[in-house]
Amino acid sequence: MKINPVFNYKNSNIINFKSQTTNNNAIDNTLKAKYSLVKCVKKKESLTKKYGINPDEVKVVSSENIKISNEEKKLLIEKILESHELAKKNYNYGNIARISFATNIGLADGSWYLGTNFNNTRNDISSICGERTAIVGAYNKLLKSHSIEESNSAPLNFKVKYLAMANHKDIGTDKNGASPCAECLSWLNTQRYFDNNTTIASLEKNDNGKYSLRLNTIGQYLPYRNEVNYVLDKPCEELDIKISKNAIESAKEKNMSKEDFIKIAKQTKNLYKKNQLANVSGQNIAATVIANGETFNGAKIDFSKRWFMEPALYAASKAIEKYGNETKIDCICYSGNSLYTDTYGSFHNDGVVSIKTLGFLETKYADRNTLVISTDNDSINIRTIDDYMPQKFKFHQTYEIK
Ligand SMILES: [Zn+2]
Repeated sequence: MKINPVFNYKNSNIINFKSQTTNNNAIDNTLKAKYSLVKCVKKKESLTKKYGINPDEVKVVSSENIKISNEEKKLLIEKILESHELAKKNYNYGNIARISFATNIGLADGSWYLGTNFNNTRNDISSICGERTAIVGAYNKLLKSHSIEESNSAPLNFKVKYLAMANHKDIGTDKNGASPCAECLSWLNTQRYFDNNTTIASLEKNDNGKYSLRLNTIGQYLPYRNEVNYVLDKPCEELDIKISKNAIESAKEKNMSKEDFIKIAKQTKNLYKKNQLANVSGQNIAATVIANGETFNGAKIDFSKRWFMEPALYAASKAIEKYGNETKIDCICYSGNSLYTDTYGSFHNDGVVSIKTLGFLETKYADRNTLVISTDNDSINIRTIDDYMPQKFKFHQTYEIK
């Protein structure tokens, strides 16, 4: 029986067709034809072609030798271009920030979700980046795909595998456009839904007009994201001092010695012990900031479980209040425990060193060489902001693009 699909559709007689096997097949064929047409149209509208990019000519650039298949490469380029188009639309519609970014989030199950920045004001109040809107969207999409029954029987497998990023500018021309900001990095610094292999992908246009696909893992962006911090009863003098290569140079420049570090760590630990204001969230942190040769302290103040005053930013703000634009932060020291158990008995590590604060301060009052002190199980660690966030700023300087 030959059925004209247009005729059947117009008569809307689908219920009758369902009761007849032959007609069911006909509907199946119609649907197949429809979907293959959609597929065909999609293929025709490939953004890679639209932007004149030949994936075979796109070089994969990664300092970690990330291996991806040709298919994955093609898919990532397409997803980055989708991000670019969304960002462009957001910009064209007058996004108030006058800069727009978008991210395509790829989950471990192969599904994708696209999001762009939302700015209801020009500043942080009611503004959120593309990476974070996409992460939240992907989470909601996955959640919606499960039933209530499923939600009671198994954990949600929400693992972010890729962040395919772009901004509104001509694709690949703004080389800093595809790097997460300090706030987004502070999200990626958490453990539950991201891991060290979660990969950030972006496109770069080289001088010869060809493109490179840059891949960097979160582990590379945030080398200390898995570190667990402790405040031990053991006196600071008895802890080992571990100092990074960058910090040795910086300490020399700042004329700071091992004794200075022990003194600062001790002082911060005392403040941690005395702090009674972190009494809602269950996580106490204290910070010391050395700026313009003076010491400023801040202890974590909880307003609610979720809202608190970040101690290093609080300490730094005292320095900034005193020295204004002349403020120069040499050292930030943290004291706090990062491990906690949630209501369900699972362990989490939510970090003590705030990536967001380091990023904020680095933009004006601190710099790449500002020292960062923290303690783990057996040592006092001396590092620099550059050690904590090496990719954010070196991202496009460590590789030669040809
Ligand atoms: Zn951001």
